Amino acid sequence: MTSFSSFPMREELMRAVADLGFETPTPIQQKVIPTLLSQPVDIIGLAQTGTGKTAAFGLPLLHHTDTAQKHVQALVLSPTRELCMQIQEEFKKYGAHMRGFRSTAVYGGVPIGGQIRELKGNPQVVVATPGRLIDLLERKAISLDHVQYVVLDEADEMLNMGFREDIDFILKNTPAREHTWLFSATMSNEVRGIAKRFMKQWQEFSAGAANVTNENIDHQYFVTNHHNRFETLQRLLDFAPGIYGIIFTRTKQDCQDVAEKLMRQGYHVSPLHGDMDQKMRSKVMERFKNRSLQAIVATDVAARGIDVNDITHVINYELPDDPEVYTHRSGRTARAGKSGICMSIVSPKEISNIRQIERIVKQRFNRSDIPDGAEVVRKRLFYYLEQIAEADPKEDFARVYQETIHERFEDMEKDELIRRLIWLQLKDTIASYEEAEDLNASYESKERGRGGRSSVRLFINIGQKDGINSAERLINFITESTDIEPGIIDRVTVRDLSSFFNVRADAAEFIVQTMTQKKFKGRKVRMEEAEQRDRERGGGNFERPQQKRFSGQYKKPGERGGSQKFNKRY
Ligand code: AMP
Repeated sequence: MTSFSSFPMREELMRAVADLGFETPTPIQQKVIPTLLSQPVDIIGLAQTGTGKTAAFGLPLLHHTDTAQKHVQALVLSPTRELCMQIQEEFKKYGAHMRGFRSTAVYGGVPIGGQIRELKGNPQVVVATPGRLIDLLERKAISLDHVQYVVLDEADEMLNMGFREDIDFILKNTPAREHTWLFSATMSNEVRGIAKRFMKQWQEFSAGAANVTNENIDHQYFVTNHHNRFETLQRLLDFAPGIYGIIFTRTKQDCQDVAEKLMRQGYHVSPLHGDMDQKMRSKVMERFKNRSLQAIVATDVAARGIDVNDITHVINYELPDDPEVYTHRSGRTARAGKSGICMSIVSPKEISNIRQIERIVKQRFNRSDIPDGAEVVRKRLFYYLEQIAEADPKEDFARVYQETIHERFEDMEKDELIRRLIWLQLKDTIASYEEAEDLNASYESKERGRGGRSSVRLFINIGQKDGINSAERLINFITESTDIEPGIIDRVTVRDLSSFFNVRADAAEFIVQTMTQKKFKGRKVRMEEAEQRDRERGGGNFERPQQKRFSGQYKKPGERGGSQKFNKRY
């Protein structure tokens, strides 16, 4: 495998890469860096944030920078101030050992005076949003006369934000430009248009096989009626106790409203949108980064700048109007090789939008059940138990409090003490879920339009404890074992010890019969029909739901061909 040390890169950058702890170049870096180091041609890189694209262009850019020269040699254009700041931060780290290297970020939303002063310090590299850069050009605070390298970062997003004319203007005003490197998450005709107008022969590189597919994202959607959207969001948050996420809304107003409602109910969240000033936005980012916030509620534009690698969940409170935007949203999770979940709350009418997005993302989305009260309580209980098991109290905590604790609880049984502690932790959740209603919209009959039961819910005795940590994994296991098409399974709920899912009624018997012959990690698979009554029971139920024995009441497969009829036909 290629390593950074095999790149013909200046020694100061090698040291910086080592300081940053980068060991192996990411796929886009492996492709782009050697090319740009040896012969800095024009390139188009198809890569989303999270793929390591900043280093892919940043390291070669700094490699070619002449620190003895005191004029702007390289310009990076990026759509938002957050992204500018982020690139600038990365550049500072890359250039830490390069004597005399200076880079500056200039962006709107903050007073221009400070940026004019910084430009007087003669940076060799400027990272800018198009609007602010034009402002500075008009004030003659910056000259682009010596710029040799221009990077257009997130070109698709700059075009979406209406910067086309600004980009044209800036590129036309870079008379010494020799190399243009364009990065974009998606390749539209407009993006190609810029390339045609301003680039010579270029080479194309892509971060992965497909434009935007990230196999590490588990895409899930939850169907509820429009008026239950907020309750559904709340329930999903409660069902994800360790969440570190971003909740997307379509408008600034929704962003503010949803965040305020959540905050009133005690969630550690904050809004992030364009009507907030830069100072407030920076403060929110700081709180999010130091984990004082469990989630940010954001609009698409504001979220572009969130540079956090370990987002566990992206939640679409509303689907975006443009399916392409979905890929930007979901790409906030599963970065740098990690896995993540992207959940969408949709109304029955919006299911067709999900199908459209599936085609763009080239991945199947799993329809999941909105958990009921009992499931939420159970999930939080397990989470709390794990936290206790993994807690590592400070030594002096024990020294200082041991005696007091011991004295007070000397006469209490261990089990009773544990019960009380857990009750204290969970009683509010239990109380609020006592009468929890079923938030799942029932639309099955309309969608399938056939008489009788269209789908059957099945139980299987494997879950997260067996290493099945996503709906996708469970579906893979079942489809590989039975050779059925994945499309007939949906509404998957993976629990700790077991899982549930829906299948088309006429395939259920075949699946149960086949699966119960199989083993998973040496353990015999048990699969049966889940009793409807158990699913509908409200909160406070800690028991594992009972299952009804599979009753064999499904329509039998045709006489000839038998169960084979089910294969690959759905
Ligand atoms: P980007 O796609 O440029 O936004 O980068 C995403 C994150 O991955 C940033 O926090 C980088 O610091 C980090 N990163 C970039 N390249 C590597 C690498 N080769 N190894 C590990 N982390 C990296």
